[in-house]
Amino acid sequence: MVVRVIPVDDFDLVIFGATGDLARRKILPGLYRRFLAGQMPSSARIIGAARSDLTEQQFRDETRAAIDEFAPGIDTSQLEAFLAELHYVAIDAKGTGGWEKLKEIMRPGVVRAFYFSVAPSLFGDLAQRLSDYGIADGESRIVVEKPFGRDLESARALNDVLARHFAERQIYRIDHYLGKETVQNLMAVRFANILFEPLWNAQYVDHVQITVAETVGVGGRGGYYDQSGAMRDMVQNHLMQLLCLIAMEPPYHFDPNAVRDEKLKVIRALEPVSEAEIVRGQYQAENGTQGYLDDAENPDSRTESFVALKVRISNWRWQGTPFYLRTGKKLRARTSEIVITFREPPHSIFDESSQKPNQLVIKLQPDEGMILTVMIKEPGPGGMRLMQVPLDMSFADAVGPEGVDMPDAYERLIMDVIRGNQTLFMRGDEVEAAWAWADPIIKSWEAGKARPEPYDPGSSGPEEALRLMHRDNRRWREIRA
Ligand code: NAP
Repeated sequence: MVVRVIPVDDFDLVIFGATGDLARRKILPGLYRRFLAGQMPSSARIIGAARSDLTEQQFRDETRAAIDEFAPGIDTSQLEAFLAELHYVAIDAKGTGGWEKLKEIMRPGVVRAFYFSVAPSLFGDLAQRLSDYGIADGESRIVVEKPFGRDLESARALNDVLARHFAERQIYRIDHYLGKETVQNLMAVRFANILFEPLWNAQYVDHVQITVAETVGVGGRGGYYDQSGAMRDMVQNHLMQLLCLIAMEPPYHFDPNAVRDEKLKVIRALEPVSEAEIVRGQYQAENGTQGYLDDAENPDSRTESFVALKVRISNWRWQGTPFYLRTGKKLRARTSEIVITFREPPHSIFDESSQKPNQLVIKLQPDEGMILTVMIKEPGPGGMRLMQVPLDMSFADAVGPEGVDMPDAYERLIMDVIRGNQTLFMRGDEVEAAWAWADPIIKSWEAGKARPEPYDPGSSGPEEALRLMHRDNRRWREIRA
């Protein structure tokens, strides 16, 4: 099957922070991939903006180098045509230079989008100047990157500063987890099939696990990370979004606000988490590798590089079904997955101890796909013995083995911005509700003296995280690639 590409309307996309890491690694290579796929109209333009005094040619050369580095092996047959669509304006978000020039080169009558790929402290300045210089209008869109605040108060302040110049329908808060194929497939599986939805509740689901494990440490960005930690960096946004998609009620329509209304209800129904149901960890030094404290260059740091917690959702559907979340650095494998463990049949007719519960495993990383485990009879003679087998649906197999060019999360999300579809972006009230839930947990850590539990690099995290589930007679699915 060939992936269908539906071209978007003509647009001018301004990338503030076009010389930065995110633009070089994700945004510019992603846009080239969409250009190659024929999704970008040939007249669409990308305008880089940053303080660096680059000529247009220098910006094109830097973009060529970025694509070379971050999209190695990509078909370069259309690279020159793509680079010709690029423009550059030297602009200081806090100054006056460059804004008139930007205004002049923007075309009337096409979609205008502004990607704020800069530190959040500049969001207010950019929004203010876009509006003062009359560059953005009521139809323009702005894209803002994470982190969206570091607590409820700062998230509210960011929302307020953007709301002074843009309506909520113009603001696209990116969480790239929501741009993953499988995440959207989760909604298709839940709401386009009759099969799962009747079982999707506390009566049939024993528990849910969400794991986002990384093998890398924080080396290189230890100073930044140390101000944040796993709860702020991962749980409040990515894991929370995944939890919402699993737990939410069916929206009345696949419409941005209907979907986000349902997600918001889930976040508001989260119970406060007690200290006893959270485990924090920090990876240790081992065999010449640096531990977290060395990477963070802060021997007294109490910031967590790992967190596991048990979350309860206080509503009819999920009363009695806990959600276990865990995420961490320097773990055994790089993997992101959601596991729905169903309850066992109420009565077994087989004289067997090998009965295992059905599990639906939704894999987001490194490969996207879903596995449903089912019990079958072990083949062959020798009586009625049961075994568990996976029904495996990796998307590459399902939609055609070759030539399938799935857009990566950033590409898909940028195209959604141009289309004006906010379904996969976080709404301001959602972000604030997630902070309102996470804040008391973080504040109690900051007020206390307890240190995170040490764990070995390459492990599954601290022993205590295993016990968090063992206490409930449950087990984490093994972390494996
Ligand atoms: P970065 O590498 O530090 O780049 C920052 C960019 O902002 C540069 O292009 C810089 O260019 C520009 N800039 C700085 N001050 C400016 C000013 N006063 N006016 C105009 N431009 C200015 O940062 P990054 O890693 O790309 O991250 C950008 C944003 O994305 C941040 O909010 C970050 O939290 C978020 N993010 C990044 C990643 C990632 O993987 N990198 C992932 C998720 C989220 P000049 O110095 O030339 O002005």
